[in-house]
Amino acid sequence: MRRNAASPRAGRPVSALGVAILGSTGSIGTTALRVLERQGGRFRVAALTAHSNSELLGEQVLRWTPGFVGIVKGDGHASHAGWALGEGCLVRAATRPDVDIVLNAIVGAAGLDATIAALEAGKRVALANKETLVIAGAIVAAAAARGGGEIVPVDSEHSAILQCIGARPRGEVRRLILTASGGPFRDWPRERLARVTLADALKHPTWNMGRKITVDSATLANKALEVIEAHYLFGIPFDRIEVVVHPQSIVHSMVEFVDGSVLAQLGTPTMEVPVLYALTHPERVADGGLPPFDPVAASPLTFEPVRLDDFPALRLGREAGIRGGAAPAVFNAANEAAVALFLESRIAFTDIPRAIGDALDALDRMDGSSRDALGLADAAARAHVRGQFA
Ligand code: NAD
Ligand code: MG
Repeated sequence: MRRNAASPRAGRPVSALGVAILGSTGSIGTTALRVLERQGGRFRVAALTAHSNSELLGEQVLRWTPGFVGIVKGDGHASHAGWALGEGCLVRAATRPDVDIVLNAIVGAAGLDATIAALEAGKRVALANKETLVIAGAIVAAAAARGGGEIVPVDSEHSAILQCIGARPRGEVRRLILTASGGPFRDWPRERLARVTLADALKHPTWNMGRKITVDSATLANKALEVIEAHYLFGIPFDRIEVVVHPQSIVHSMVEFVDGSVLAQLGTPTMEVPVLYALTHPERVADGGLPPFDPVAASPLTFEPVRLDDFPALRLGREAGIRGGAAPAVFNAANEAAVALFLESRIAFTDIPRAIGDALDALDRMDGSSRDALGLADAAARAHVRGQFA
């Protein structure tokens, strides 16, 4: 899905690259602004958008003075030239002429249209919003081909794979091996999973993230989304994408080549590294924010198989990816709806994969051939899940 190996700076006069941060008040958005703070004049914040936490957004605006600010929650009309309210503001931020790189750090399906619009406008999309590729991988690839944009992943596993694959032809790749922390319930017995509380699920052992992805990491739905994301990013068939549990989150993923050599990318678990790499790829630039990596302190590094029967969301997502069409969009929307209910303490932890499986069975004939059809599948899956628990 990467169209070319050139940096977004290639062929342009040397000036600061304009970055639009969609979801600037979230975990990835604030991480990105921390990274940019250390980069001096290399980047310029051209646009910021958020959905909630307008106080933090206000502070960010004062600090970065972007040319455009968008707030999604609102009545849909722009209040004055540089500010916009409503859903359309994501697309407006992503397609501005002063924007070179769009960091999509929105959570969920709400990030899809901005990704497509940015790619059609020829932008680099530094993509944290993995749901974009899960819902509409083929449509997103077509948008990139039409407009000349490119996707560079922010997700740590996919950043690792990109760094390991480099420019090697896909025929040299035997397997992708995604690592998974296993989440907070990695070693809980199956009977205990039914009694997981919201507080338990929000305590991730190695990463500090937004609430939705933290729950996804606990169910392993996140790893399912990542398998599908890897398929579309790197063009590798599903039977050559594997997952292994690695509780320390130091090895961010591995690529096995046809000659038996395995390359891995390692580092302290912080999203600052993949965020910066997505902005500068294929170049690397200095970042003084992290202490040197200490392999002795990071030891031991261990690996174990995934407990697929106890965390069924991973299998359901992989199957949806293989089935294709609307199935990945149904998987994603059912998961989003079920996680929202879990976050409101209205359903149990083990209801999440059950709800996803039910929605996939009920909606297995939905059309997935266009953006509009995928929107209908998404809405049907959400309604199906809500209906199950009404
Ligand atoms: P978060 O909940 O912390 O932040 C989400 C941001 O998006 C906020 O700024 C919020 O205001 C905005 N937002 C929420 N709903 C919106 C909507 N409907 N329309 C427009 N804006 C909306 O989430 P996060 O943890 O930063 O994750 C963002 C994305 O990055 C997700 O797709 C997640 O899977 C992915 N990701 C996150 C991490 C991480 O470490 N947090 C790691 C890898 C990938
Ligand atoms: Mg990840």
